Amino acid sequence: MSESVSEKLDDEWRMMCPQHHHQLKDQQGPTVYCERCNHAYRYEELIDKVETNSYSVVGKR
Ligand SMILES: [Zn+2]
Repeated sequence: MSESVSEKLDDEWRMMCPQHHHQLKDQQGPTVYCERCNHAYRYEELIDKVETNSYSVVGKR
């Protein structure tokens, strides 16, 4: 189960830039442009909420 980052970006709620914005534009390459930061980030710098949730659940019951 390997989703590409482009597929993840189709879910707009899902991927965030390191500053927690969702206004991301895939640039068809290894970077995504954040309109709020005016900055391009590499895929690996983005926050995937699906992955983040697995450890942000700690503390919630
Ligand atoms: Zn941003």
